[in-house]
Parts: sequence; structure tokens; C-alpha cells
Amino acid sequence: MKALKFGGTSMATVDSIAKVKQIILADKERRFVVVSAPGKAAGEIKVTDALIAVCAADGAARIKAFAPIKTRFMRLCDGLGLGEGLLDPDFAEIERVLPQAEHDYIVSRGEYLCAKLLSAYIGFAFVDAADMIKFRDGVYDDGYTETLCRLALEKRPNAVVPGFYGSNADGRVVAFSRGGSDISGAIVARAVNASIYENFTDVDGFMTCDPRIVPHATVIDVLTYKELRELAYMGANVLHPDSIFPVRKANIPINIKNTFNPDLDGTKIVPTDKFLSGEYARAKKSPIAAIAGRKGFCALYIDKSMMNLEIGFMRKVLSCFERLGIPVEHIPSGIDSFTVVFSGDWQDHANELLNSIRSEVKPDHMHIANDVALIAIVGHGMKSRPGTAARAISRLSNANINLRMIDQGASEMNIILGVSDEDYDRALVALNGEFEI
Ligand code: ASP
Repeated sequence: MKALKFGGTSMATVDSIAKVKQIILADKERRFVVVSAPGKAAGEIKVTDALIAVCAADGAARIKAFAPIKTRFMRLCDGLGLGEGLLDPDFAEIERVLPQAEHDYIVSRGEYLCAKLLSAYIGFAFVDAADMIKFRDGVYDDGYTETLCRLALEKRPNAVVPGFYGSNADGRVVAFSRGGSDISGAIVARAVNASIYENFTDVDGFMTCDPRIVPHATVIDVLTYKELRELAYMGANVLHPDSIFPVRKANIPINIKNTFNPDLDGTKIVPTDKFLSGEYARAKKSPIAAIAGRKGFCALYIDKSMMNLEIGFMRKVLSCFERLGIPVEHIPSGIDSFTVVFSGDWQDHANELLNSIRSEVKPDHMHIANDVALIAIVGHGMKSRPGTAARAISRLSNANINLRMIDQGASEMNIILGVSDEDYDRALVALNGEFEI
């Protein structure tokens, strides 16, 4: 049995919702569906954004701000042949409480109304997430949620569940952070023991590289959870890796698919063990799954002769970062030197950081470069296979790109290269050419 989640673009128009219905009914295994609120469409903003604006209005003005959202849903219902009055009882209830309603209740109504609409349109039961996805004092309660979801869904032939929210013990709605319907989908998939969690969005899947820079980038067919984590960190953000922890825990694969191109296989994100044991294989035989990167990092270079003999040297430097609350991203090191890479968002703290390190460890030399781009070459295939780093480095050198740092984790599935921001695009193109992914 399959659990599905449709994102905002899939639920945005009459045509896209008709496509959603076709997709669901094309496969009898597709029985549990989670939806986002309608997203952007011609002349329309995301319903969630419109609801956030409703929260900002005062008392009765909220009813007025809610009116265009109501009209949008009425048009959708009408266009789908459901009659524009389908959601009238829900609108009446929302408008009754709206002037005093809390923020999370208001922003969650997009998903609530959307799930009601879809359940009527495809003839599946509506099950409210507030009754089974639980928070304790605002913090998500995974154990209790799992039990309630199993009880609520297990014996049903099918259901449509609104994404993005649940409720506290007292029944008050609590929303996840933005994009949280991915979590709701993962929760439902685990509760019904789905064989797969199909996450329908508006792209064909994860790309091997940023297609704006490398136009011949292709869709990755298989990616492991670990590879996803590395790529998402570098900004490849089709799906937030932390948002799918319930399926990761239960070893359920995810399939990213495109509602507007549903015949494509999309990208499967599979448990790392299953991939390593050969249960899933990538069609392409490159050791690399994908290359991703981000500009705008800072790198602190620090050296002091005989640093290796000075016990606690690195700890003292890192304690300066800790005191200023600056998260450290990578620490490539040499014998008498090392580099600490941190996000460019902390650039304004550079002087404070240098002063504090100077008084703590008295280095021979130190400076901060603030135009560093990081590129991650990711793939389990490079483990125990000599030459990947060498190929990357010589390709960059042939392209006359200066390599500013290199870092390879012990897991051997990720090599991080640092180049300057201005070399970033050329480096991505060169590395793609080298590994032909
Ligand atoms: N509608 C919410 C948002 O726009 C949640 C979601 O779509 O996942 O963030």
C-alpha cells in the first residue's frame, strides 16, 4: 500500500487537482493521501501566505482578509463539479472563530479546506490531522502520534489527511514549520506501513547538479537517505531531510515524483543499508550520485608552528566560535595549520572572532576569507575506490581553478572542495564533466 503527499502546486488549480485525482485512481495501492494548501497560480498567491496575512489583521478585519481565500476555494469546488457551496459549513465555522483565533489555527485552514475538497472529489474519507498528530506543549510527540495515527487509519480503506498541522493535548491546533506537510506525509506513511511514500511535487526529482549552471544535469534515479542529507545541506532543497524522519526510522523509501509528469520514475530515496546491500541500484554507474554546492562561506585560516604539540590548541580556537555562538561547518587541517569554515551570515563578527582567537592562542598568522564557495561531491560509490579526489583536483587544476580547501569525511561518501565564489560556476561545470553524472 502506498501513502502519497501532494504539494501546493499540485493542489493549486482545477486542472492540477484533476491530475491529482487521475494519479490517485490510477493505482489501487494509493490509499492514503496528504495534501498541502493550494500554492501559487495565475493571479493567486500561496493560500498559506494569504492566511499569514489574515493573522496580521485585527478582529473583524480578518473576515474581510479571509474573503479572497474563501472565493478561491469556492471557485475550485465549482470548477471540479462539486458545487460552490461544498465547504460552506467549514467557512461558517472558520469565520465564527476567526476574530479570536490563534495563529496556527488560521494558517492551518488552507490544508484543512484543501483536504476536505479532495476527499469529496475522489470519494475518500476525510480524517483530520488534529485528531491524531499530537504535540505536547507545542513540541511534536512522535510516540503518541504514531499510536493515534495507527488507530485512526489502520482499518480504513482510504483517507485524505490535511498536512502541516496537528494539535496539543487540549485540542488547540499546532502547525509544523513551513513546508511541514512533508512531515505529515511521512507520519501517515509510517502509520499505515506503506511500502513507499510518494511525494508529488512540481519537479521531476533531485537533479545531479544545479540545472541553472549545468544545463545537461539529469534526474537522479536512486539516492540514499545519507546522500540526501549531504546534498540538502548544500542547498539542493526539493525535500528537507529532517522533515521525513518518520519514514527514515521505519525504513520506508520515498519517491519524489512530478504531478505534471507522473509517468517519469522520479527520484527514489532509499534506506542506506538497502542501497549498500544491493537491493537498489543506480542506472548510471558513476561512483558519484550528485554534486551540489553553495556560495557565501567564510574560511578562517590559522597557523602556528609546532601547533600539533600544543595540547588543546584546536579546542581553544573552537571555544572562541562557541562563545560567539558561531556554528562551525568544516575543519580541514594540516600539520601546523587548519581552516575553520563557517557561514557567511557571521561575517560581521569577523573582528570580534579574530581578537578573541588572538588572545586565546597567539597564532603566527591568521586571516578570514569571505568569498568561499563549497562544493560537495556525494556518492557511496567512491568508498574504498581510489582516485575520486585526485580526479576532482586535477580537473579543477586543468580548468585553472584554484582549490582553496578540501575535506573528506571518514564515511568516504562526500568530498568537500572550497573554491572562490567567482570560480563556483566553472568548477561545477568542470566537475560534472569529469564524473559524467
Ligand atoms: N502550506 C504550508 C507551507 O506553505 C505547508 C506545506 O505546504 O508543506 O509552508
